[in-house]
Amino acid sequence: MSKSKPSDFTRIVIVAYRLPFTLKHRNGKLTAVQNTGGLVSAVLSLTQRMKSESENETMEKTVWVGKGEYDNERLNSLPEVKETFELSSVRIPDSVNEKFYGGFCNDLIWPLFHYFPSMAVFGQGYFESYKKANELFYKELRKIIRPGDFVWIHDYQLFLLPAMVREEFPEASVAFFLHIPFPSYEVFRIMPDGYQKAILQGLLGADLIGFHTHDYAQHFLKSVRRCLGYDISLNTVTAEDVYSRADAFPISIDYNKFHDSVLLPETEKYISRIRKQKRDRLLIFSVDRLDYTKGFLNRLSAFELFLERYPGMRGRVIFNMVMVPSRDTIVRYQEMKKEIEATVGRINGKYGTLDWNPIIYQYRSLKFNELVALYSHSDVGLLTPLRDGMNLVAKEYVAAQHKRAGMLILSELAGAAAEMGESVLVNPSDIGQMADAIHEALTMKDDEKHKRLEAMKNRIREYDVFSWADDILRTTVKVKADRESYRIRLINKDIEDRIITSFCKAASPVLFLDYDGTLVPIRELPELAVPETTLVDLTARLASVTELVIISGRNRDFLDRWFSEVNVTLVAEHGAFIRYAGGEWESSLGQDATWKEGIMPVMSRFTNRCKGSFVEEKRASLSWHYRNADEDLSALRAIELKSELEEMILNMPLQIIDGHKVVEVKMAGYNKGTAAMKVTASGRNDFVLAIGDDKTDEELFAALPDSAVTIKVGKGPTNATYNFTKQTSVTRFLERMIEAREKQECS
Ligand code: UDP
Repeated sequence: MSKSKPSDFTRIVIVAYRLPFTLKHRNGKLTAVQNTGGLVSAVLSLTQRMKSESENETMEKTVWVGKGEYDNERLNSLPEVKETFELSSVRIPDSVNEKFYGGFCNDLIWPLFHYFPSMAVFGQGYFESYKKANELFYKELRKIIRPGDFVWIHDYQLFLLPAMVREEFPEASVAFFLHIPFPSYEVFRIMPDGYQKAILQGLLGADLIGFHTHDYAQHFLKSVRRCLGYDISLNTVTAEDVYSRADAFPISIDYNKFHDSVLLPETEKYISRIRKQKRDRLLIFSVDRLDYTKGFLNRLSAFELFLERYPGMRGRVIFNMVMVPSRDTIVRYQEMKKEIEATVGRINGKYGTLDWNPIIYQYRSLKFNELVALYSHSDVGLLTPLRDGMNLVAKEYVAAQHKRAGMLILSELAGAAAEMGESVLVNPSDIGQMADAIHEALTMKDDEKHKRLEAMKNRIREYDVFSWADDILRTTVKVKADRESYRIRLINKDIEDRIITSFCKAASPVLFLDYDGTLVPIRELPELAVPETTLVDLTARLASVTELVIISGRNRDFLDRWFSEVNVTLVAEHGAFIRYAGGEWESSLGQDATWKEGIMPVMSRFTNRCKGSFVEEKRASLSWHYRNADEDLSALRAIELKSELEEMILNMPLQIIDGHKVVEVKMAGYNKGTAAMKVTASGRNDFVLAIGDDKTDEELFAALPDSAVTIKVGKGPTNATYNFTKQTSVTRFLERMIEAREKQECS
């Protein structure tokens, strides 16, 4: 965990679709009951901790922005609310909400992100209403935001909100957390391009984007790369005006609450009832909201098969399946419920006897203590969703286990499976495997159960919902600090002016300019990246006001062809050859090129294995280019190629350069840095400037003295002092330099 201090903040602002209270209006009286979810208590505890940790009395009450119908003043005067949050309600007209929440969120995003694309509805006006609702949220939020706020936005209803905040409040600290899965790019791209871009760009307004699992974070990053083409380094996305990090923060539970509540008298009364109902039978328990993602029918089929495969278990096992009411005004959910009930009836009819009903089915919500009692006194927790972002019930089940322990059967397609490998993991589509898993879990020895449970309990206890919230907050502080130090290096007008002033004052300035990606944009094929006449003119004009060095990976012929008329020093093949202005080419190499015979077949083999890649041969090097190949496959092949080459060249005077979409092998002992040292060896240059975009330019930046002005084109880690975000800025900047020096306006 980062050591950054959250005390930089003076207030937390939560934005979520729902307010943290259930409000009831009866006989003219409004009452509020605080929701019991982990998020609400985590946020309250976070505020407390921040207050004490920072000894910061200025820490203010947490604001919670959510959909609501009542006036803020009325809400905030309710005694239940006063103690905890300051509520801010967003009014969303029913006509908008229907297509926003019922439509875009629940008919499109929910099924698609849970891998049910065939159930996704692309309704007329859904997306417009989604945008409208996000704008309404923003309208409320912008009245509230102040410096020192930590703005934490939640879930798939508010994808567009982070970018809205970022645009008007560039300094704001913003985190986003997604409570459902983020699907693989192949599923995400089923949505129209416009939706994809809006969602991704909306999210990238946040400093930190949190997901339940590493896989979901990677799916998101891949979608960003494929859909927006932004740079990604480790988990950080950078582009013009974007600096965001995506990572996994598996949401957790209040472990102590679930563990300790088992022993409370309020729970005991439910436990006695369960004991009476069970007698000497074994109890299987499941609880989930009514939803097609939860896999009720598969679970029932597995239980049925279990009774068929293990006849000795008939009469000895009860399956208590609780379905919590949810969205049941929707026809699809009503039909699903009927089908589930019919299946329960059929199985009970098939196997039930006078004194034994195999399935106890209940469609209702449970009181907290009843839930804990069922967790702690069932022999198996059977949680087998077809897909689930996390599945908190799985963690709660494990936390509630004491000496008399049950065992958890968990779907490997629930996010929780990533952290709960000691449970009996099943594939919810494999009915046979689930049936056997029920038998395995019911007959598992106590020692084995305790060993497995202990490992899971420790993990949940260590990373409970409070650490989760704390982790997100601290990581946001860290990302924000990184973003700021990153931005400082971007060249602005003031820095440009200062550079130009020293350039004008210099008696003997020298400029080192890389070619591809610096003087010309990167093109798919190197032969396409030829300079336009305007660029040749520009270099000629530059050469008339300063000593100029074009320092490139290109070969001598290419540079000769285009720049022979210009009074410029040329460095070819990353420093292998130098031709001083008006002179002849000089080599930094020995003559032996037999090494290429071993390397060439390896690179050719990789070309065959990666469509779109190709090998380029130069006098002093061999390069495998992969910028036209499939992004993911080529990145993998490049890693394989490098490792193969590293072994090959172990005792040879060769060097591997990991460039931008190119793996190059060249003779060791020279690079752009050594070439630049030769050029500046006389020590007469009183102004040195270098611009480049590639890893090979890093050696140039590193070799130059601290007084040199070094600029990297593009973002990412660099030895350079400054960054330009795009190549076109270089040309514009060089024009300014020429004009200033020609006019000597700065002298
Ligand atoms: N839960 C509840 N009422 C009930 C039964 C369960 O509030 O009658 C809670 C349960 O304790 C858990 C949450 O609902 O915290 C369900 O979360 P989960 O991640 O398992 O599934 P989701 O409903 O979010 O898909």
